[in-house]
Amino acid sequence: MTARDDLPALLGGEPAFPDGPPTWPIADDGVARVLRELAASGDWGKYHGPHSLRLAEWIAKHHATEFVELCASGTCAIELALRGVGVGAGDEVLLAGYDFKGNFVNVVRLGALPVLIDLDPETWNLDPTLLAAAITERTRAIVVSHLHGGTVSMKQVRAVADEHSLAIVEDACQMPGATIEGRPAGIWGDIGAWSFGGSKTLSAGRGGALYTRDAAIAQRIRLDVERGNHAYPLSELQAAVLLPQLERLEDDHQRRAANVERLLDGLTDVKGLRPITRPTEETKPGYYKLGFQYEREAFEGLSRENFVRAARGEGVAFDEGFRSLHKIHSRRRYRAGGALTQADAADERMIVLHHPVLLAEGDVIDRVAWAIGKVSRHAASLAARADRD
Ligand SMILES: *Cc1c(COP(=O)(O)O)cnc(C)c1O
Repeated sequence: MTARDDLPALLGGEPAFPDGPPTWPIADDGVARVLRELAASGDWGKYHGPHSLRLAEWIAKHHATEFVELCASGTCAIELALRGVGVGAGDEVLLAGYDFKGNFVNVVRLGALPVLIDLDPETWNLDPTLLAAAITERTRAIVVSHLHGGTVSMKQVRAVADEHSLAIVEDACQMPGATIEGRPAGIWGDIGAWSFGGSKTLSAGRGGALYTRDAAIAQRIRLDVERGNHAYPLSELQAAVLLPQLERLEDDHQRRAANVERLLDGLTDVKGLRPITRPTEETKPGYYKLGFQYEREAFEGLSRENFVRAARGEGVAFDEGFRSLHKIHSRRRYRAGGALTQADAADERMIVLHHPVLLAEGDVIDRVAWAIGKVSRHAASLAARADRD
């Protein structure tokens, strides 16, 4: 390899992936077949049909729940879940200071107050040890998301919730196929949610689902969505394209997990990228994104924004993470359930790798590691160049 081969694309070298990152969703013969069948039969125009039924049955079986509600998005699934557990005006709902924005907005729109909880310093997901101190007589529910390959100990959340009679809404939108402390992600909550949004690992372009064992919650949701017609439906067409993906779910999940391990092995020499994922025998996270704590100092002062730019220049789909919720909402909208030190750090330093490349062959993964290595080795020049631009 010549020195020039090792130059980052932003400094005039060849990008590691000249065609850019893989697109999503990927071509799937099963999806193509089902679309042809639907076009021929006209079944795609039905309100209810065998595909939605099979999808709901599959989700129920997977989570060992009786009740499944298919709906229009993950965002609306979380809203319905909050209503289902009885959250209303004047209630308080605990959630991580760093979370999907829609979860915060859903709480506010129900007239309830989001109470923001700080993150575990290693995983940058909700720290369950901080929940108890934030509980008041108004607290009604806890929203728990597992984000960017990080996971939250649901045993700990469950213990706090049971002690204080709080409901748990478990946001598993990033975790189809994942196992948390020995059980499928989403079933530790009183109700769990999935998203089938366009970028998600199970995708119908749009869509979502809810699952619960609690008959009272199920009944409230049924009453909420049934208005002579389903108010937030998933279509038969959407259900149909999801069925072939369910057949692949376990294999895809394992391949992503193996590739994450391979990638992290390949990045051991790169200082300043601390993975937030903590897989164990009992916990097998899903990887919709793979999150890292970015340390600018270890990259010779290269800002997070410019790291992301350099990685994307190589054709590797890194992004900045979410904004932390207290950074983008007025203080009148929430209460801080303690210091938000780690949520501040995540706001400034989270970076995430998008999942499609995690289904690639091993040599592609090694090339991703090499591309990131290039950025690391040339961080000083990249930083200097960014200062000049
Ligand atoms: C994507 C996502 C949602 C919302 O799903 P949509 O279908 O896009 O509305 C909610 N929570 C988390 C953690 C997500 O990643």
